[in-house]
Amino acid sequence: MKDCVFCKIISGEISSKFEYEDENMIIIKDINPQATIHLLLIPKKHFSNLMDITEEQTEILAQCLKKLSHIYLDLGLDRGFRIVCNSGLDACQSVYHLHIHILGGELLSDKMA
Ligand code: 5GP
Ligand code: ZN
Repeated sequence: MKDCVFCKIISGEISSKFEYEDENMIIIKDINPQATIHLLLIPKKHFSNLMDITEEQTEILAQCLKKLSHIYLDLGLDRGFRIVCNSGLDACQSVYHLHIHILGGELLSDKMA
């Protein structure tokens, strides 16, 4: 999608190191990390957030999360991780291409926000 920063990263128009890539998704480091490890799991297909997700997009997202269960060790997340998916205004979503924040590499707060 035109003017979407994550579509530009996926297409290579904006260069970014991929920590992982497969047919469904890329994983990159967040440019403004909020934890020792802060990654973004980004589906290659553009969809805005969880508020208007289709059956097909739900299936893609499920495959991405299943893959995460296979690769989290390679990402340095052996002690566990937290995932966050900001959707919409109250969640302060800033990039409207669905992405999952993956946080870890340290003991995170037991408060969610
Ligand atoms: P949101 O607030 O939409 O849930 O999260 C968007 C995230 O994308 C933010 O944590 C922000 O730091 C990250 N981000 C925005 N632009 C870029 C970029 O060009 N490269 C990378 N690696 N992260 C970005
Ligand atoms: Zn996009």
